[in-house]
Amino acid sequence: MPKLSEGHFRISMTATAQEKPYFSKVTVIGVGLIGGSLALKMKANGLWGTVVGVGRSKANLEKAVELGVIDSFTHDVSEGVRGADLVIIAVPVRTTIPVLKDAVPALKIGAIVTDVGSVKGGIVDEAEKLMPEGVFFVGAHPIAGTEYSGVEAAFATLFEGRRCILTPTGKTSREAFEAVGALWRAAGSKLVEMDTAAHDKVLASVSHLPHMIAYSLVNSVADVDGEIDGVLGFSAGGFKDFTRIASSSPAMWLDICAMNRDALLDVIKVFESRVTRLKTLLQAEDYTALMEEFERAKRVRDSI
Ligand code: NAP
Repeated sequence: MPKLSEGHFRISMTATAQEKPYFSKVTVIGVGLIGGSLALKMKANGLWGTVVGVGRSKANLEKAVELGVIDSFTHDVSEGVRGADLVIIAVPVRTTIPVLKDAVPALKIGAIVTDVGSVKGGIVDEAEKLMPEGVFFVGAHPIAGTEYSGVEAAFATLFEGRRCILTPTGKTSREAFEAVGALWRAAGSKLVEMDTAAHDKVLASVSHLPHMIAYSLVNSVADVDGEIDGVLGFSAGGFKDFTRIASSSPAMWLDICAMNRDALLDVIKVFESRVTRLKTLLQAEDYTALMEEFERAKRVRDSI
């Protein structure tokens, strides 16, 4: 494993023996829900010195300054990352590598680059190939979020008690990995280590598939609503709870589904067979078997 060449971060101990990784200049590319929440938490804890935001929308970045999420901003990636000790890439997943390509020529030796993307295959390998000698990439994915986007949705406690998956490879610097791990622990997360393929398979099941189902459920009821006026007006707590995630950013979810296409198609197949089974049992009026299906699901759900 390559070593970090400079002591550009430090791990200090508090009275509670918690690691406190300090970075003096941090650049957050994509100051939205995730990038903004992390910046808020780290600034509140005094763990980040100067924070530069990078994004396209001036209004969002001005709001980020007003909310104290970042200290300054630029629309230019290379200008934003110049001199940064830590670079957080928190843009939609299909934009991560293009943004990183823009950043690479301006990254300083010793910098740590990390991401927060919901898909890791296709990002981590590419990012590692792009890293100049003496610059370190660590893939990360906090398992925390809401259906809201943009810096106004950010809040410092978003990651508390939630898992954060780190996806080190054989090329990952141990020191950079530990620094990024300490960062997420300081944000309140519990760390989990996974390889990228396992990450993408797991997340396809528990996150990406539920979004696909929520989209199809809402659109199915909207289709019915076209036939019987006002059906959606009767949607009660259950429908609203179940479909909350259909309000998530369409652009962000298009990127996630496209990038995790193969793993997602695999779990969609499993889901289709489960729905077909319920339909078949209902058609056959096999209520004993249908009850067994419901009971099994209840047991599994109750155990979470
Ligand atoms: P978000 O609130 O929409 O924030 C994304 C930010 O990226 C926006 O502020 C956007 O600002 C900026 N951006 C988009 N394209 C850009 C570009 N080409 N160059 C520079 N900035 C760009 O989304 P988010 O929920 O924070 O998600 C960010 C990342 O976190 C995604 O990779 C997602 O997979 C991951 N993630 C999301 C969740 C969740 O539940 N939301 C959970 C875990 C991980 P401008 O439009 O102004 O450029």
